[in-house]
Amino acid sequence: MEANVKIPEIYGSMVFSDRVMRDRLPKDIYEAVRKTSRNGTHLELDVANTVAAAMKEWAIEHGATHFTHWFQPMTGLTAEKHDSFISPTSDGGILMEFSGKELVKGEPDASSFPSGGLRATFEARGYTAWDPSSPAFIKDGSLYIPTAFCSYGGEALDKKTPLLSSMEALSDAAVKVLRLLGNTGVTHVDTTVGSEQEYFLIDKDLYKKRKDLLLTGRTLLGAPAPKGQEMEDHYFGVLKPKVSEYMHALDKELWELGIPVKTKHNEVAPSQHELAPVFETANIAVDHNQLTMEVMKKVADRFGYACLLHEKPFEGINGSGKHNNWSIGTDTGENLLNPGKTPAENMQFLVFLLAVIAAVDEYQEVLRISVATAGNDHRLGGNEAPPAIISIFVGDELAQVLQSIEEGTAFSGGGKQQMGMGAHVLPHIMRDTTDRNRTSPFAFTGNKFEFRMPGSSLSVANPNIVLNTAVAESLTQIYEKLKDVPAEEMDAAVHALLKELLIRHKRILFNGNGYTDEWVEEAHRRGLADLKSLPDAMPHFITEKSIELFTKHEIFTREEILSRYEILLENYAKTVHIESLTLQEMVRKDFTAGLVRYMKDITTEALKKRDLLPASKCSYESGILQKLDETSERIVHALEILDTDTTKAETIEDSLKKAKFYHETILGEMEDLRFWVDRAEAIIPDEYLPYPTYEQMLFSLR
Ligand code: ADP
Ligand code: MG
Repeated sequence: MEANVKIPEIYGSMVFSDRVMRDRLPKDIYEAVRKTSRNGTHLELDVANTVAAAMKEWAIEHGATHFTHWFQPMTGLTAEKHDSFISPTSDGGILMEFSGKELVKGEPDASSFPSGGLRATFEARGYTAWDPSSPAFIKDGSLYIPTAFCSYGGEALDKKTPLLSSMEALSDAAVKVLRLLGNTGVTHVDTTVGSEQEYFLIDKDLYKKRKDLLLTGRTLLGAPAPKGQEMEDHYFGVLKPKVSEYMHALDKELWELGIPVKTKHNEVAPSQHELAPVFETANIAVDHNQLTMEVMKKVADRFGYACLLHEKPFEGINGSGKHNNWSIGTDTGENLLNPGKTPAENMQFLVFLLAVIAAVDEYQEVLRISVATAGNDHRLGGNEAPPAIISIFVGDELAQVLQSIEEGTAFSGGGKQQMGMGAHVLPHIMRDTTDRNRTSPFAFTGNKFEFRMPGSSLSVANPNIVLNTAVAESLTQIYEKLKDVPAEEMDAAVHALLKELLIRHKRILFNGNGYTDEWVEEAHRRGLADLKSLPDAMPHFITEKSIELFTKHEIFTREEILSRYEILLENYAKTVHIESLTLQEMVRKDFTAGLVRYMKDITTEALKKRDLLPASKCSYESGILQKLDETSERIVHALEILDTDTTKAETIEDSLKKAKFYHETILGEMEDLRFWVDRAEAIIPDEYLPYPTYEQMLFSLR
């Protein structure tokens, strides 16, 4: 282990950061770039040329030979295409070149990225445009330039463009409301995001022997190990020495990339771990989370591990999520979800708190869709993850505060009051008294909200786009209601509005245990959406209400929404399709071979025994044979059904119908097949199995 890493020295050493820019750019150029990155204004070509030259020089000094525009197409992954800096000269030498034009705009041959039919109607190709608000960095010998990806018709083909728009929409709406409340110093707000990332580490050699993990990211077969997570002995447990070395190496690489990772620990499931960074501006946090996932896999490979980011790699034990911690910070350094110290601050806090509550209630369906993937469907509603129903946890004290607002009574503060009640209409709030409720999908945790539904492999761009837009909308409505109120009546008007909002949206508030059946019933009574799967949820994305939300705030056009709808449904169907084919192949070829070999060996042994001991009934051997024979009948049958229906699924044209068929029919049939195979697996000795068992994968990690 590299024992004494000097963090301040390595931190951000591979980043073309603000500091590097200040050092290396002429002052006027530096100011121009800063302005562009803050306000998204156009950058003149001569400025771009100067920046590009400085970037190239810095990159070459740091060992880079190539550059790439780095973007986030709708696959959910990142994409890159590397060009070297070299430019041959007529005398047989080379120059190292990088122009402002190359920095600002790229034209990847991107016609194979999903576009949901968008590009077909406009231009065949898309282009990438530099996003100066997220710093360039060096990785694996290339200079990476974060970019947005658009079609020539101007449609967003990526996740960054709508994220940046949603941050702007939220900022505009928040600033207007702050002005009304008398807070005039703020000119801009940023959404801040810290995403805690869960993952599994397993032995790479075992991983390579599992076709299901290789091709689909999750195990499609496998009998449970005798031990699972019931002892809860892994959570926060001592790190194994090599795992600890891995985490250390990972931290170091991430620090070099300027990613502020801070916390690491073992998670609940065996071989499961978590990493958490310090929060950053949403756009950068999203880029950094995408990078973190990549680097996690890369470093794992070096250590002889495979890093699994799938939401549910193993049946029967916890899956992995990504907690999206979210708040709003002002350019004056305030956190708007921080309960204040003065009555005015408290009022401001409550307005923003209720804006979030209203937004989450009003747009719960689209928020659910923002985390919907085939993988995450297995997790939501499992015993570790929040249920598929969205509700908000605010903690007991805040719940009392809200109740007192609703009833128009004064809040006593439970004896914990810190300050006098300056404004008679608004109670004071103690900071950070929220207890932990791990079952809530959307929890207020002191000075931020923690959205716990995102799956571990998801780009956090999705949930933040929806959250930002929905909150921008509720702030806009608050602004509309208050904008004509005279200053001296503002307090009373705000109080009345808060009360009105609470009464309208309190059904979303729930402080109890979200895993119980009683809550599910209660939630249904309250009329909360319970969208268990992606195909169940998707129709809510293309309702007029959803389209109105995103078009009004200029996040998506109607066409963009329709194209994203198609892409999500197609991805879902493709994912389950590949899973079905992989499962079929594993059973038909690999598992059957092991099964037949074992049955043959038992038969041979039994016959030998009969030669030796003619009186023996061979009841042990025949018992096993009998069981395996019965089970294999079932397997053959289940395999046939799955095969036929998977072929049928591919003939369905309508994308929603197709996804529904995969969800309702194919997944169930896969479960069926798995049930019988796992039963047989439980009887067959490991050496006959074509792939490593759960026990080997989960408990053998060194
Ligand atoms: P816990 O999950 O135990 O409550 P913390 O509160 O320290 O841990 O933080 C969890 C995550 O929330 C971290 O990634 C942290 O950076 C992030 N976080 C803290 N404050 C904010 C904020 N204002 N906005 C966004 N994320 C935040
Ligand atoms: Mg947390």
